[in-house]
Amino acid sequence: MTDHKIPLAGVIGHPIAHSRSPLVHRHWLKTYGLPGDYVALDVRESDLEDVIRTLPKMGFVGVNITIPHKVAILDIADIVTDRATLIGAANTLIFRKDGKIHADNTDGYGFIANLRQGAPGWKPSTGPAAVLGAGGAARAVIASLIDAGTTEILLSNRTRPKAEALKSEFGSKVSVIDWVQAGNMLEEATTVVNTTSLGMTGAAEFRVPLDGLRRGAVVTDLVYAPLRTKLLEAADAAGCVTVDGLGMLLHQAVPGFERWFGVRPEVDAATRAAVLE
Ligand code: NAP
Repeated sequence: MTDHKIPLAGVIGHPIAHSRSPLVHRHWLKTYGLPGDYVALDVRESDLEDVIRTLPKMGFVGVNITIPHKVAILDIADIVTDRATLIGAANTLIFRKDGKIHADNTDGYGFIANLRQGAPGWKPSTGPAAVLGAGGAARAVIASLIDAGTTEILLSNRTRPKAEALKSEFGSKVSVIDWVQAGNMLEEATTVVNTTSLGMTGAAEFRVPLDGLRRGAVVTDLVYAPLRTKLLEAADAAGCVTVDGLGMLLHQAVPGFERWFGVRPEVDAATRAAVLE
C-alpha cells in the first residue's frame, strides 16, 4: 500500500481536540483545489512510535507533532534536521518514499515569517531582543532570532535556572535577567517577545510592568487566544509595532503543507479568517 491517490496528513497530540491545525490545512486544500485530507489524531505517548510507523502504510505523507510529543519524537525519527536538533524538539514529520521518517522544527521559521509579514520594517540587528519565558517555544524563538541576526537577547523566566540552561546552550548572545526585573529589559529592547503562557485565556494574568516599552519597538505575543493580549494592547498604546501570535501558528504550517501536498500556501486574510471562524 504505497501508491495512494489521496495524500493524508494530520496532527498528533494528547489531548488534541483544541487544535486549529486541521482548519488551516483543510482551508489550503480547498483554496488550492488539492486532493487530500488533514486530521487530528489523539495518541498517547506509549502508542506514539507504533502509530508513527503505521501511518505511512495508511497513506499518510506526514504529520505535525504537538504537545506532549515534540521532544520524544526526536528518538523515533530516522533523520532530524539541524534546526530541530538545536531547538530540541520537532513539530513536522515527512514520511519519505524510502521509508525514512524525517523530522523538522518549523516554529522558528513561523515566528520569523510572522514578524516579517506583520512588521515589514523589522530589523533583527538594530538592538536587543527581550524574550519573556524559557519553555519549549522560547527555544525556537531564541534560535531563530540568533539565526536572523539578533546579536543580543535579554532573557527572563519565572524559573531562572531554565533561562540559565538556555543561555548555556545558546551562548554569550543571551543574558539572563531576574524575573522580578523583567520589566527593566524592555527599556532597551527593539524587539519584545512573550513566549510564556501568561495572558492566555484560562492562564494566569500577564503582570510584567510594561511602562518601559520603547516607541517603535516591534512587540509580539505567542499567545493568540485572545488575539489582542494585554501586552499587545499596552504596546499599541506606547507606539510600538505589534504582531499577534496567530500568524506564527499559520506560518509554521507552511513548510509541512508544501512538502506534503506540493503547493506553497499563502498566509493571507482568508487563512486567518478560516482559523478564527
Ligand atoms: P511551556 O514549555 O510549558 O513554557 C511555558 C512558559 O510560560 C515557561 O516559561 C513558564 O515559566 C511560563 N509560565 C507559565 N505560567 C507562568 C506564570 N504563572 N508566571 C510566569 N511564567 C509562567 O510552553 P510553550 O510550549 O513554550 O508555550 C508557551 C506559550 O506559547 C503557550 O501559550 C503556547 O500556546 C504559545 N505558543 C504559541 C505558538 C504560536 O504558533 N503562536 C507556538 C508555540 C507556543 P516557568 O519555566 O517558570 O514555568
